[in-house]
Amino acid sequence: MSTSMLSTAELYSKFQECTGVSTDTRKITANCLFVALKGDNFNGNQFAQQALASGARYALVDDPAVASQELRCLLVADSLLALQDLARHHRQTLTIPVIGLTGTNGKTTTKELIAAVLSKNYRTYATVGNLNNHIGVPLTVLSIRNDGPTAPYEMAVVEMGANHQKEIELLCSIAQPTHGLITNVGKAHLEGFGGVEGVRKGKGELYDYLAQHGRTVFINSRDKVLMAMYRERLKSLRSETVFAEAIFYPAVDSTEQTIELIQESPVVIYRDEAGYEVITYLPGQYNFENMLSALTIGRYFGVSRDDANRAIAEYNPTNNRSQVIHKGTNTILLDAYNANPSSMAAAIRQFAAMPARRKVVILGDMYELGQESEAEHAALGKLVAESQFDLVILAGKDMKYALGWLPKAYYIPDKFSLHNWLMDHPMTDTHILVKGSRGMGLESVLPFL
Ligand code: ATP
Ligand code: MG
Repeated sequence: MSTSMLSTAELYSKFQECTGVSTDTRKITANCLFVALKGDNFNGNQFAQQALASGARYALVDDPAVASQELRCLLVADSLLALQDLARHHRQTLTIPVIGLTGTNGKTTTKELIAAVLSKNYRTYATVGNLNNHIGVPLTVLSIRNDGPTAPYEMAVVEMGANHQKEIELLCSIAQPTHGLITNVGKAHLEGFGGVEGVRKGKGELYDYLAQHGRTVFINSRDKVLMAMYRERLKSLRSETVFAEAIFYPAVDSTEQTIELIQESPVVIYRDEAGYEVITYLPGQYNFENMLSALTIGRYFGVSRDDANRAIAEYNPTNNRSQVIHKGTNTILLDAYNANPSSMAAAIRQFAAMPARRKVVILGDMYELGQESEAEHAALGKLVAESQFDLVILAGKDMKYALGWLPKAYYIPDKFSLHNWLMDHPMTDTHILVKGSRGMGLESVLPFL
């Protein structure tokens, strides 16, 4: 019987006997710690026995009845809070630089680019995939272990996502970044944040944390919103709470040669400060911004220009964020991972600037816009109407609001009829942009193009 509650220190010593942490019984590995979380439709406590039977060493549970059945159940008051405390405790044992990043768009891409660059010099751990929330960040921190595959780690890059206030504050309290970066602040999750101002405040919690703890911040000096957010903090900070340093890129007061974008489509080519041209796999001005962040951080930590360029040139995303796919005579820009008004606008502008004989856009709904949804879809319609695309295909419930500006667009409420339509209307020699929110799953159109 083990029904007394464990302290964080006791829990931590149990964690050290484990090989890793899992919250999913389908992903149990031998001797891992299973953490029983509750969701809207499930209660992890009910799977504790199963996790132990599948090889977990311990199960962290918050149901005394479950804990009383098994000696290897570790009882706490709240499994989620215990997971977060465990991660905080583990973080205290790490003495390496931890780079925290958040922002509306480009977090994962930037994180991958930073990790690729830093990996040239350091054993680097980076958030796996998109594990960037109140569960993913603790899991990420707990994975920075000295017995990991490329351990001991010398550097960590942690992606932090948020869709409401105080979330980044919480994630910072767990990851305790020593260095930080906000990619940008745009329109997304307006519902949860309470409008654009709310988004700015929410993401700004990273700057607040870095300032309060005397840490280093990297700021894209061409981004007016980020610069304003930084200045606001300088003004309001008391002397005991101040950033250790702020690294601006491009440097604000420098006449030095800066890294220059030469071409943005179909892929970014840039010229570095020494005049070398680097051809990458990623499209778009926005990915150039992501590259600049990674190059700046690489330089800061002493990665050579050559190595950093090579890391960026070699980075080729295999997930469905910004992929360029050549299929038959068509070139497809698949960007079906997510969509919000700012990333949509960036993608549309980039696609419009692209030289191509025939251009088609297939756009799916932008989710989580709440009351703004109608206006934002209409604004998108206007933006698309200003560009000269040969065909516009709109899919999803709220895309009907874009139709007002695009009377000639082909509109389909659901994507299955879209598949049928695409089968009946094969395209050749065409550049096709495919973008929509995750929930639309627009990558499913690929076989039909
Ligand atoms: P998520 O919120 O899902 O974690 P994310 O912030 O990690 O997203 P990415 O997955 O890197 O972002 O990129 C998602 C999409 O956002 C890209 O496919 C691209 O369309 C767009 N995007 C990427 N970088 C930028 C940027 N710097 N500015 C605007 N849009 C961008
Ligand atoms: Mg991400």
